[in-house]
Amino acid sequence: MERLRTPGAMRAWADARRAEGARIGLVPTMGYLHEGHVSLVRIAKARGCGAVAATIFVNPTQFGPGEDFEKYPRDEARDLAMLDAAGVDAVYLPGVRDMYPEGHQTFVDVTGVSQGLCGAARPGHFRGVATVVAKLFLAAKPHVAVFGEKDYQQLAVIRAMNRDLDFGIEIVGASIVREEDGLAMSSRNAYLAGDHRVAARCLSRGLFRAKELFGKGERDAAALVAEARAAIEGEPRAKLEYAEGRDPVTLSPRSGRVDAVTILVSAKVGPARLIDNITLGN
Ligand code: AMP
Repeated sequence: MERLRTPGAMRAWADARRAEGARIGLVPTMGYLHEGHVSLVRIAKARGCGAVAATIFVNPTQFGPGEDFEKYPRDEARDLAMLDAAGVDAVYLPGVRDMYPEGHQTFVDVTGVSQGLCGAARPGHFRGVATVVAKLFLAAKPHVAVFGEKDYQQLAVIRAMNRDLDFGIEIVGASIVREEDGLAMSSRNAYLAGDHRVAARCLSRGLFRAKELFGKGERDAAALVAEARAAIEGEPRAKLEYAEGRDPVTLSPRSGRVDAVTILVSAKVGPARLIDNITLGN
């Protein structure tokens, strides 16, 4: 597995793989890897990518003031071992100064789909995400890029950017990988200990209840969302940030009778801000 630390090194690797005729798959991450990340690598391989690059970069521009940029968990040695074991061909680990040298002044702003949900709770977050992903796309020149549905709004932002800026990359969404008790895997779960770890189940519990209701024939968006919200509001250690029903593709708000809906939730549990979602009817 090659280790690349600058945009120039990433580009040279990508050019060489393209010259060989390889199909390049890209898996962007912020590190502190878990099975969810590894599943993205597997998906890239299953999509016929003979050259898979993963990136590890805790991107400062997507963190707001007072958020956890400094505290974000990091373990490069463990991450490299996991990526190597997963059969990744190259890992791109740029430093902050490599990505944002003195004088950096260009940002990518995806408008509509960045608004609301996490975009409301974290102003500027998706601008940082779109900018860094655009930079990763330009350096790694992938044919395919894989992103988790765990970050459902992020996936929609990247799909919009890819379309609007003509990147021409195949964007693949990957199912959420969960712990045995339902909690969506996340690097930020490292912040959860004891009671908070138990309390964190309320996000997925509510979503699964909504799924059960949907299975029994409930089609009213508000009733389905209410189920997800009630599970979080019923957990004293959790503080609900949002629970909303959105169109699975456009992410526009849905109310009334729905054939398909994505329910997205966010809550603070102790020191961790957690998100989760489920798509019903697709
Ligand atoms: P992160 O390192 O948290 O920025 O995540 C990197 C990529 O892994 C993103 O595309 C995430 O959506 C994806 N991801 C994170 N957690 C999961 C999970 N539990 N299941 C599937 N994909 C995930």
